[in-house]
Amino acid sequence: MRSSDAIMADLTESGIDGMSERAWQCIDAAQVVVADLDGCLAQDNRPLDGAATFVRRTAGRLVVVSNNSTHSAAALAELLRGRGLEIPAARFVLAGELAVATVAQRRPNARMMLLGTQEIRKVAIQAGLRLVDETPDVVLLTRALDARVHDLEAAVTALHAGAMLVVANPDLSHPGAGGVPRIETGAILALFKAVLPSTLSLVIGKPEVLLFQTALDLSGARPDRAVMIGDNLTTDIAGARRMGMHTIHLAGASVSPESVSVLARQE
Ligand SMILES: [Mg+2]
Repeated sequence: MRSSDAIMADLTESGIDGMSERAWQCIDAAQVVVADLDGCLAQDNRPLDGAATFVRRTAGRLVVVSNNSTHSAAALAELLRGRGLEIPAARFVLAGELAVATVAQRRPNARMMLLGTQEIRKVAIQAGLRLVDETPDVVLLTRALDARVHDLEAAVTALHAGAMLVVANPDLSHPGAGGVPRIETGAILALFKAVLPSTLSLVIGKPEVLLFQTALDLSGARPDRAVMIGDNLTTDIAGARRMGMHTIHLAGASVSPESVSVLARQE
């Protein structure tokens, strides 16, 4: 988008279906279209009305940036394809996978305790990380669907002993079917902080810059030539604005989950 494009702005729309002409002008003018998944294109990984049309119209320019920390991009692309939403795996930037990649890059030889799904466990093993059940150097917290209190206590023990905490995403919840909140990674982080108030963490997902920057790097676009479409003001819109991206807030798309604000980092 050129700076002279007066159409660029921070817009608010009700949902991905039935967006205004002004919003479409903004999207059509963008070099890269960055979109959130949950509450924008899908709910519980089921495509929302208008999502397939949106994906077709933005093909080749779309990057889906999600705080999802349960799936690999390949598995999520496959799941959505089976439900009628065709987005190539290479066009997903996911918090769980990026959290694994961050640990693999910064602490390649670390002993890592993973709280997460079997799918994220596979991603970590493929990244060459050494997974352990006790005395880790790093605890990686993702959306641990099968975690028991016993597992959370093992992580608390490790953090108390000085392990570094890396957190895929800070969301407390995401909207499930019928608007019922689903427990998210940030809620487990809040539990850790309740038990260990001095806990420091490195947070990977939105609103932090890494997912947005990765999406821009994929397309080689400058932030001012990108538009972010999201339903969460705290993560999607605040993060994108901080990057200098244009934004479209889908205000009526879903129940917006609250998010933990930016947390103290520990390198
Ligand atoms: Mg969302």
